[in-house]
Amino acid sequence: SRIESTHVLIIGAGPAGSVAAALLRQQGRQVLMLEKQQFPRFSIGESLLPQSMQFLEQAGLLQAVVEAGFQYKNGAAFACDGRHTAFDFRNKSSAGWGTTYQVQRADFDHVLALEAERAGAELRFQHEVLAVDVTGDKPQVTVRSPEGETYQVQADFLLDASGFARILPRLLDLERPSRFPVRGAIFTHVRDGIAPGSAGFDRNKILITVHPRHQDVWYWTIPFSNGNCSLGVVAEQAFLARYEGSETERLQAIVGEDPGLSRLLANAEWHTPARQIVGYSANVDSLWGRNYALLGNAGEFLDPVFSSGVTIAFKSASLAAACLERQFAGETIDWEASYGAPLRKGVDTFRVFVESWYAGGFQKIIFHENQNPAIREMICSILAGYAWDLSNPYVADAKRRLGVLEQLCAE
Ligand code: FAD
Repeated sequence: SRIESTHVLIIGAGPAGSVAAALLRQQGRQVLMLEKQQFPRFSIGESLLPQSMQFLEQAGLLQAVVEAGFQYKNGAAFACDGRHTAFDFRNKSSAGWGTTYQVQRADFDHVLALEAERAGAELRFQHEVLAVDVTGDKPQVTVRSPEGETYQVQADFLLDASGFARILPRLLDLERPSRFPVRGAIFTHVRDGIAPGSAGFDRNKILITVHPRHQDVWYWTIPFSNGNCSLGVVAEQAFLARYEGSETERLQAIVGEDPGLSRLLANAEWHTPARQIVGYSANVDSLWGRNYALLGNAGEFLDPVFSSGVTIAFKSASLAAACLERQFAGETIDWEASYGAPLRKGVDTFRVFVESWYAGGFQKIIFHENQNPAIREMICSILAGYAWDLSNPYVADAKRRLGVLEQLCAE
């Protein structure tokens, strides 16, 4: 069979793959993106964070995103048993973008992939990577074309952006279990029918609702610009397993347990069968190896509660592209120091907040009656995705600072 060659081979054309491709094209690299599916295709992960805008801008992809007409987003609202609080991302301590979008990922990912192609990356839909060999001088992959033929591609460097498929971690046995309990999500898109001006609802914000009786169960309502909402619930697998029927019936039953959400969605039209995904949290031994790196979800995935997935995917692409620029210029790169460790810094910030969320401490902080405005701006920065901003004490010293705040708010 034939063997092709390229500078950088990218597995997967999701957000991580497309941003990496666009950045590498700016450096003049030859880039081949292999994508198993035909776009547009559904993906979960629809609420972006303002920090992600910096990477879209850097990669030259922002104009296409703005022009695609997605739902403007300026914050996150939280509801719990009749209480409400909202963060406007523009009131944050970190510098940078304060607004972003809520996106149907089918369209968003397609826009990004086509822009990367327009920038000169070669994009092949329905080409699936089947096998990987990283033992030789150059990584080599086996690919199946839409016609069912297999061929080989050799690359100077391999970027795994295969998302939850986690091609390299699986094939190279790099997987390490996540420390989080096994949670799952049931979700769908509805025509929401929410009247403009409905109390406690703002289309420009994601709404996170905490279950009135189970503090570790929560719902997302993510409005789109076309009158639909993405609607989902996240809970431990054992909780979800108690509900019977179709995924739609199960989601409707759980939504029915929250009076506020039920009222909000009273006129919703459930036009799309709900789906379930379970056990999405994942981790790896290392985010890189000789001539390869793991981007986005192919590396680590924590939890959806802070909508951090796409932002982390972009950050990984940006860091990897910067390393590759230096490596292709002849420098010897310490990938742990320049890629693994800096990427994990922000992931670890989010981890502290995710743990606090499920233990209930974070809810006490955000619903607390007397909040220090300066501290609220720092928390807002994290919610806006600025989890790598070391000038924020809740990044630099996340665990200790959040712990102190939890105690203050518990009194
Ligand atoms: P993906 O977007 O998954 O892209 C990977 C691509 O690789 C796919 O297109 C796939 O077809 C392709 N591929 C797979 N295998 C192969 C192969 N063998 N050969 C070739 N191609 C292949 N994130 C947010 O930012 N905001 C949210 O609101 C949010 N909500 C979430 C809710 C839930 C319930 C979950 C589970 C996640 C959520 N996320 C959210 C996370 C988000 O979905 C991911 O972090 C994000 O999609 C990661 O992007 P990626 O580019 O790494 O991978």
